[in-house]
Formats: sequence, C-alpha cells, structure tokens
Amino acid sequence: MSKIHRLSTRLANQIAAGEVVERPASVVKEVLENSVDAGATRIEVDVEAGGTKLIRVRDDGMGIAADDLPLALARHATSKITSLEDLESVGSLGFRGEALASIGSVSRLTLTSNDQSQSSEGNSALCEGRDMEVQVKPAPHPRGTTVEVRDLFFNTPARRKFLRTEKTEFNHLEEVVKRLALSRFDVGFSLRHNGRSIHNLKPALTQAECQHRVASVCGPAFMEQAIHIDHDRPPLRLWGWVGLPTFSRSQADLQYFFVNGRVIRDKLVAHAVKQAYRDVLYHGRHPAFVLYLELDPAQVDVNVHPTKHEVRFRDGRSVHNFIFSSLHRALADVRPGQDSLAGG
Ligand code: ADP
Ligand code: MG
Repeated sequence: MSKIHRLSTRLANQIAAGEVVERPASVVKEVLENSVDAGATRIEVDVEAGGTKLIRVRDDGMGIAADDLPLALARHATSKITSLEDLESVGSLGFRGEALASIGSVSRLTLTSNDQSQSSEGNSALCEGRDMEVQVKPAPHPRGTTVEVRDLFFNTPARRKFLRTEKTEFNHLEEVVKRLALSRFDVGFSLRHNGRSIHNLKPALTQAECQHRVASVCGPAFMEQAIHIDHDRPPLRLWGWVGLPTFSRSQADLQYFFVNGRVIRDKLVAHAVKQAYRDVLYHGRHPAFVLYLELDPAQVDVNVHPTKHEVRFRDGRSVHNFIFSSLHRALADVRPGQDSLAGG
C-alpha cells in the first residue's frame, strides 16, 4: 500500500496559514489590504476581545461577484496577477491568493459582498466546513465587502496557546491599522474595540489633513517635533516626517517606513536611517519617523516572504545612499529654534 497521500484541502490551507496567520493582527492586515486593493474609500474595523473572538472588516470597495465568492476563499486564487511578468510590477498589496483560504481554515469566516452599486442585494459565503466547501446564499449588502472572522484558531489549539492577552493582541492589531492609515491617506479608517471607538480617521486629501492624520496616529508631540522632507531625485523619491533628535525614544516604536505604499522592515533601510541619525542621537536612543520611499516597482522585489514585510532592492547601494544623504541633509539643516518644523 502506498505511504504517500495528498493532504486534504483544509490541512494544506492550515499549514499555509502557519506562515501568514500568526495572530489576530495578521488577519486584520490581510483583510485590510484586500479592502485597499478593492479601491475602498472607507474601511471599518470592529473587533472583540483583541480580535480573538471577532474581527469584522467592512469596506465600500468594488465587491466580489456571487460566482467568485468560492474562488475568493480558495487557495492560489487571485484577481490580482495572471503571470510572472505581472509580479514584476505588482501594484496591489496582495497577489498570492492565499490569505482568505488560510484564514478560513483556522476560523469561522463569513464573506459577504456585493459588486453592484445599483443594488443592495449581495451574497454571503461561509467557510467552516471540514473540506472548505463553501455555501453561497443571498444576503443584503451595499456595494462593497464585509469579512467576518470569528473564533480565530478555534480548531488549532496549538496556535491558540500562543495568543497573548486581549490587550496585547489588540495593540498588535491597532498597530496594523495605524500602518495602513499612514500608507493610505486617501482612505478613511475606523477602529472599534469591544464597542468602543478607538480611531476614526476621515480620508485626508490636503497636506494639512495628512499632517492631522499623522498627528492622530503618531501623537501630536511627534508632529510638533518633526520636520517634513521631500527629496526627489528620479527615479527615487523620499518624503515624510522625521523626528528631531529632541524627540528621540527609548524604543524603536515610532518608526514607519513605506516602500511604494507597503510598510516594510529592512536591514538596509534601517542601517541607512541609523547612520543618518548617528551624530545627532545619544547612544541607545531611537529616532521616530514616518517615511515614504517611492521607486519603480521593477526595482524592488516584494515576493521575499509571505507576509511581504521584507523587500529586496535591485540596486541596494543607491537606495541606501539616497536615504542616508536625504536624512543626513535634513537633520543637518535643522538648528534649534529654526522654523522649518512640520507645521511651517
Ligand atoms: P490576494 O489578495 O493575494 O489576491 P486573498 O486570499 O487575500 O488573495 O483574496 C482572494 C481574492 O478575493 C482577491 O484576489 C480578490 O479578488 C477577492 N477579495 C478579497 N477581499 C476582497 C475585498 N474586500 N473586496 C473585493 N475583493 C476581495
Ligand atoms: Mg489579499
């Protein structure tokens, strides 16, 4: 008798989930990114018990047609790329076609959507069956999508054991919302926890509104002690807000770096920033910043890790030099009392 057998769909998905779904925050990240990719202008996030009991994300994006609902929940099914060439220039946050299938395999997931702006009739798909069979039934919903994830890890006790307190899980989850709110000023975000409103951010279109958003996400003290930079040296552009040395922190907890709208953690970037601050910060202090690097998508590989937190630059050295010199110059330009602060 053969010893080798195929994994069931559910088990294969659960194994894949190990890579992308670590905790409630990872669910929120994937689901919010889908809403952004769907062109939503307003995204509401409602969670209970730090997201362990319920995560509900509602958007006003393009929605999903009834026939596509089962596919949206299937692994390796995506509307975002069709070829390897597409991956070279991928503009969407998602492209792996794995998130919903993974989340659905370790939770009770309901996907309700409507892709017609004229009608309020949508459809709902529930995924908690043993082999990921999906039932679709009509459900009222305005144009857009609602994803409801209940009882995360209810069927994977080993994973559930790694969950921290409700508060810790919520903090991680809130951080994900903040990152996305900083990456897409044009989208409105709200976050509620156990029925309480935590964030309510309107779409920010003007410079003043964007600054207001940064202040509400990072705290007004950061904004008061940050300089706005915008260095454009085609094909590279770096803009955003860098905290003055006077706003240094004991932890690296206020550092946001986006590459083409995607938040990343990268050694090369971290090194360039650190070097730029080296002469102006005391040892052991960390800078605060919200920075956006823009470059040709073909110059950066985002498919390094399933969570897409890492990137690989084609020309790492010039990226490093550019970040370093932009920040170094900006920080050198600032003298105490000078009025080049963010608000000016
Ligand atoms: P990926 O984002 O990598 O394509 P996902 O599993 O996250 O994979 O989503 C699968 C597909 O479901 C997406 O490609 C998209 O077509 C559809 N989808 C998911 N969420 C939404 C949403 N909020 N609005 C519209 N379509 C969605
Ligand atoms: Mg996705």
